[in-house]
Amino acid sequence: MLAADPNSNPCEIAGATAAQCPVCGGGGFEDIGDFEFGWWDAAGKEICRQEYVYRIVSCDVCGHVMADSAAIERDYGPDFIAKLYTLPQVPDRLGPEDENTARSLTEIIAYADLRQPLQERIVDFGCNDGALLTVARDRLGAPAEKLLGVDFAPKLNGIPAAAIDLDRLETLGPAPCDGFETGFCVHVLEHMINPRSFLRSLRRRAAPGAKLYLEVPDHAELKFSVAKNIDLLSAQHIHYFSLKTLTILAEGCGWSVLKAETCGVDSAPCARLLAVAAPIDGARASTIAVRSDFDAMWREAGEVLARAAQGPVRPALWGLGGDFIRIMKASPAFEAAVDGGRFVLADTALAGRSWRGQLILAAQALADDGAAPVYLTPRITKVCSTMLAAAEKLGIARERLRRPYTAPPND
Ligand SMILES: [Zn+2]
Repeated sequence: MLAADPNSNPCEIAGATAAQCPVCGGGGFEDIGDFEFGWWDAAGKEICRQEYVYRIVSCDVCGHVMADSAAIERDYGPDFIAKLYTLPQVPDRLGPEDENTARSLTEIIAYADLRQPLQERIVDFGCNDGALLTVARDRLGAPAEKLLGVDFAPKLNGIPAAAIDLDRLETLGPAPCDGFETGFCVHVLEHMINPRSFLRSLRRRAAPGAKLYLEVPDHAELKFSVAKNIDLLSAQHIHYFSLKTLTILAEGCGWSVLKAETCGVDSAPCARLLAVAAPIDGARASTIAVRSDFDAMWREAGEVLARAAQGPVRPALWGLGGDFIRIMKASPAFEAAVDGGRFVLADTALAGRSWRGQLILAAQALADDGAAPVYLTPRITKVCSTMLAAAEKLGIARERLRRPYTAPPND
């Protein structure tokens, strides 16, 4: 018998929504339909149907389509997944011995632009029966020891394999796939609970400059005339990508896309791309360089000021802000000169207070201090311009004003 009305199915959560969009990180979704599947419990004479109803939701920011992740997280435990992947279904493709299959797999490998002869460490993530790696070995001459198939239950013949739950790859320590030079993920991402976590993990485990081939069904190009003949709205498929969402996801996980396309529109539309593990943002290098320039600038200012403290007249420091503190930290000689009372300290906002036992003067007091040099400690030009204007009003001679900074070395 069929179970009762699907609306009363305990597997359905009213109003459940996906926790987070893997493409844009958004947390808002709209329901766009239901997806139903189930299986027979045929243990006894009287059979019973277990039916599941999952919401299909779409991100309200980027539009990414996926199964309701609350239901997935609740149901997709090891027993459920084991049952799901042993259900009889239409095979994606025939084995590597089939001529058409071998040709399409050869074409996939060709898209990855591998160096010839094949010597790279190639890993097929989600390898299943290893058809792609078998073609790489038997038809393209890749040495078996450079190949690795990864799946939760890989079924490979004479090619190294590692049994890994790809949904947990990010939580694993060192793994046999580490340091791969070319990775293939052919119809894998749509099965992942969290494809962003998976792609991030691949990026961390990739060799420098490694390449990654991704292929998924392209739901943006799907028409009913094609969909009715293939098994895309399947319980195994959690994410429904387009070429655009696949590209955004890959780029967001540290993969720089080299080329991307939709293919097979008339039979089974697929979005695929080839990406490289390369730094995609220059902010890291320039931030390191600029940070180093700041240190050099304060160190040099400290040296200039420490030398000034050795002169015959007692110079003034005008402006006791962050740069003043930074210069002292960078230059112990300057800090010692300040603490030794070798400078007159002046600051408009702090006038009348004392610091480390020394009285801080108002800027006006500098006008009466003869010909002693006055060092403006703020590094920001605009602040110095304001101080120069104030100096003119206060009658501090222009030729007494100095800046301790020289040009940074890497500018
Ligand atoms: Zn989104």
